[in-house]
Amino acid sequence: MKGTEASLLDLARDLLKNHWGLSADMQRLPGENYNYLAEPESGDPVVLKILSEPHADPGLEDAVITSLHEEGVPVPLVIPSTAGLKIVPIEGMEATARLQEYLHGTPWKSMPSSPSRLRSIGAFMGEMHMHLGKFDHPGAARTHEWDLASAHVHREKVQLLTDPGQRQIIEYCFHLNSALVRPYLANCPSGLLHGDINDENLLLQEDRVVGLLDFGDCLEGSLVQDLGIALAYALEQEGVTLEVAASLIEGYDERRPLQPVEQDLLVPLTLARLATYVVVNADRMSVHPANSMRNLHLDTAWAAINTCLAMSPVEARNILCSGCSIKGPMHDEPDSIRSAREKYISPSLSLNYEEPLHIITGRGQYLHAADGRPYLDLVNNVCHVGHCHPRVADAIARQSAQLNTNTRYLHEHLADYAERLCETMPASLDTCFMVNSGSEANELALRLARAASGAKDVLVIDGAYHGHTANCIAMSPYKFNGPGGGGPSDWVHVLPMPDTYRGPYRDDDAGSAYAIEVADIIGKACSSGRSIAGFFAEPMLSCGGQVPLPPDYLPASFEHVRNAGGVCIADEVQVGFGRLGEVFWGFELHDVVPDIVVLGKPIGNGHPMGAVVTTRAISDAFDNGMEFFSTFGGNPVSCACGLAVLDVIKEEGLQERARVLGNLFLEGLNDLQGHHELIGDVRGQGLFLGIELVRHRKSMEPADAEATHVVNQMRDRGVLLSTDGPLHNVIKIKPPMVLDKADIEMTLGLLDSVLNQF
Ligand code: PMP
Repeated sequence: MKGTEASLLDLARDLLKNHWGLSADMQRLPGENYNYLAEPESGDPVVLKILSEPHADPGLEDAVITSLHEEGVPVPLVIPSTAGLKIVPIEGMEATARLQEYLHGTPWKSMPSSPSRLRSIGAFMGEMHMHLGKFDHPGAARTHEWDLASAHVHREKVQLLTDPGQRQIIEYCFHLNSALVRPYLANCPSGLLHGDINDENLLLQEDRVVGLLDFGDCLEGSLVQDLGIALAYALEQEGVTLEVAASLIEGYDERRPLQPVEQDLLVPLTLARLATYVVVNADRMSVHPANSMRNLHLDTAWAAINTCLAMSPVEARNILCSGCSIKGPMHDEPDSIRSAREKYISPSLSLNYEEPLHIITGRGQYLHAADGRPYLDLVNNVCHVGHCHPRVADAIARQSAQLNTNTRYLHEHLADYAERLCETMPASLDTCFMVNSGSEANELALRLARAASGAKDVLVIDGAYHGHTANCIAMSPYKFNGPGGGGPSDWVHVLPMPDTYRGPYRDDDAGSAYAIEVADIIGKACSSGRSIAGFFAEPMLSCGGQVPLPPDYLPASFEHVRNAGGVCIADEVQVGFGRLGEVFWGFELHDVVPDIVVLGKPIGNGHPMGAVVTTRAISDAFDNGMEFFSTFGGNPVSCACGLAVLDVIKEEGLQERARVLGNLFLEGLNDLQGHHELIGDVRGQGLFLGIELVRHRKSMEPADAEATHVVNQMRDRGVLLSTDGPLHNVIKIKPPMVLDKADIEMTLGLLDSVLNQF
């Protein structure tokens, strides 16, 4: 608002005189708004409001106040001007004036919050929401700076906080908001919200609420948002623990029982409000220190944040909602699950992290643990379009309620899906087989290669993993050369990893130099009487440690393989389907067309699917009279799922998203490399990245323990990463492709602070 305090006070006095015919002493009331108390010599005190906020809609406010007044809710009625106007435009200013009744009562702020008082406030809010849940006004569909449903817009202001510890805490509050609030808010009962139930807007007499002021922030939203705001103010009061604040929720729940989904949102919404307050204040201070908020209550806001974060979100929810009538689902304790798992599941299956996670739900890029903590999933390249994408889940549910059978009947989904897959490939790759996993797909690719070539042997790249079946293990140096492995089989020839960071060739000609090694190995195999059926290659090495193939390597190697009578197989299980951003398939990066492409992981977004796409000539060579049949492969449910995944990738622009976000991520990681000696190499593209940690950049001594430490520390901070590579020192990044910029910024900030420990 333009003008000094004194000039605005004069303006208020003039407005009151000119439009309402009242002369009175006036004073500005506490708070952010321009509200002036007038005490005329005769008659009741009144409040003149000068409104200039861009989102102010006095018509909406008046409608809400009138409606609540009719329901007996104590709200200040609007007093029309002598000309009969409820809203008076102020000449020469983009502002309006309004006169309201003055309600007597003590602001909540000045009354200690006892359980009985909080219960009464909760009951008042519940009662009010029962009315407001039904209120409808065209002007209510709006948002503004303090709308909790869009608290995320303030996240970028976190960087304005100068204290790194504070920054990390507020960043975490916004992370909770992104993971726990945003995906679920729309599932909560909605209606009109007051939008700012703070400790100045509620008036009390003893425990009774005798007034609710200031509907300037009212808007349509999820009713639980109002509770997040009221809880933030309750928890700011001295002595208000979560146990005490539970009375507010209990009082509310008696009037409007809270659904479990709303109960889950209480703590993260409260934190979102407090975090918004902290960063909006920092923002105002950064623009102009004199612009900081009136009635600064940063200390108490921080105290409330600490109260909420002193335990897990579920523990905090359980305390707050101990008096709620509807109980949320309970989960087994991790220890009992672990002992049952150990009893019935083979110990050859491992668990991630020193302290394993008990994950119960997933949404988008986040996984949720049973204790309510959300984790940003930077590991799972299977849930390509996001965990539990509603469109994919719906496609599976609908088709499984209609028909699920095998490929021995005509069904449009199989034909459609095969056509859609082929459309993403070069023209020669025109024939599909549907299976259930990447291993099965590689196993089938091996049979196809052998049928087409009449040969038996294969070439694989050192460090590669192609699956868990007997033949796939035999084709996976990652396994057969690792713990418990039996070494190479006579029909498998291992090619050196074309690694330009650690390998023998690192310059611009490295691709050709490594390809000469391929020719040499083929030559040696053939001269010892072996013949080559195929070459299995990932277009970017995954288990090998996120290693991009140098230019010229694949074209030259493919030529050598084909000259020897073998076929070329691209294992796109990890890198395909748009993950690399620039291209849909990894092989496209190298300007080659494989003879067989192996698909897995992302194609079903978690539904067990794999596929092989090849040429009609290879499939004809395979078609020797023996039927190919996979009981589940290509069933209508899997195909419906696969079609939905393809639709989502296209409609949500995920390939382009991977390109843009990948560049952003790489830029940030390169920047970190400049500050942290431990980062020897940053590589990859799109959303398939690797960070190789070394103790000394010159000796390249692998920092494997450090990599594991970083991964565990990041897990403790809510970000899931993994390590891989033959030396176990490469941190891998391959998230669901719905990740957003704020997730990347948070990750980079956390990585920076964890790396500072070394
Ligand atoms: N190929 C590659 C490159 C893989 O990474 C994997 C799995 N990690 C497979 C094949 C095997 O896929 P699945 O586990 O679905 O059998």
